[in-house]
Amino acid sequence: MKTIVAGNWKMHTDAGSADALINDVAAGTAAGAGDVLVIVAPPFPFLKAAVDRARTVDHGGKAPGILVAAQNCHEEEQGAFTGEVSVPMLKSLGVGACIVGHSERRQYYGETDEVVGRKVVQLLKHGLMPIYCCGERRDEREQGRHRDVVSRQLNTALGGLPAQDLSRVVVAYEPVWAIGTGVNASPEQAQEMHGFIRKELAGLAGKAALDVPILYGGSCKPDNAASLFGCPDINGGLIGGAALSAASFTELVRIAQRSKAVS
Ligand code: PEP
Repeated sequence: MKTIVAGNWKMHTDAGSADALINDVAAGTAAGAGDVLVIVAPPFPFLKAAVDRARTVDHGGKAPGILVAAQNCHEEEQGAFTGEVSVPMLKSLGVGACIVGHSERRQYYGETDEVVGRKVVQLLKHGLMPIYCCGERRDEREQGRHRDVVSRQLNTALGGLPAQDLSRVVVAYEPVWAIGTGVNASPEQAQEMHGFIRKELAGLAGKAALDVPILYGGSCKPDNAASLFGCPDINGGLIGGAALSAASFTELVRIAQRSKAVS
């Protein structure tokens, strides 16, 4: 099973600070990230610079290196969609992955599971890794509906995929109440949901579900990561705030390395 630590820079940085951050992440992981796949997701304008810098990182041919991801893509191949970015455009830059269905896109831009599912299909068609985000809001958890919500998100967006395609998807469980709040899900809450997601994926794809990395996201930081990454169904993290500091992000990579080496 792949272990992944992915940094979502959201709408932060500018040309200079994005360059500095990718440089520092590259330098911080150059000694080798072990078996951890490091992913960075800068804003669109800085993707090319990040791809170029990531290519210069020599991990001694052993580690998977740094993969550059976009934070969103359009579900159509091309067309009159002013301001949008297609998957073939991302591919032509050397971008290897894309976050889709982040709760901020669902909340502020009205993205539905159906649309996000179409983005996943586009990404798979062009050989990019979809990082599919799911997770319940606070009110949904308080009403005891968190499993139903996540089940619906997974089944609607990923339910039509053949098993071999589903095995190329990465799922990120990101409870909305934990994103950017400083309140992370406890390891027990997170493991319970990751185990549930694994079962849902098995319902869709059988054994192929065992190959799907399930990342935890939501106020994950160096001081809480070891207990989260140590859970059996947590295969790494999708990191927001803590990814904006190369020091804390590379520390998270090291924690993932250690947690998975012993678990
Ligand atoms: C995110 O937005 O994907 C995220 C996990 O953010 P944070 O780590 O800041 O909670």
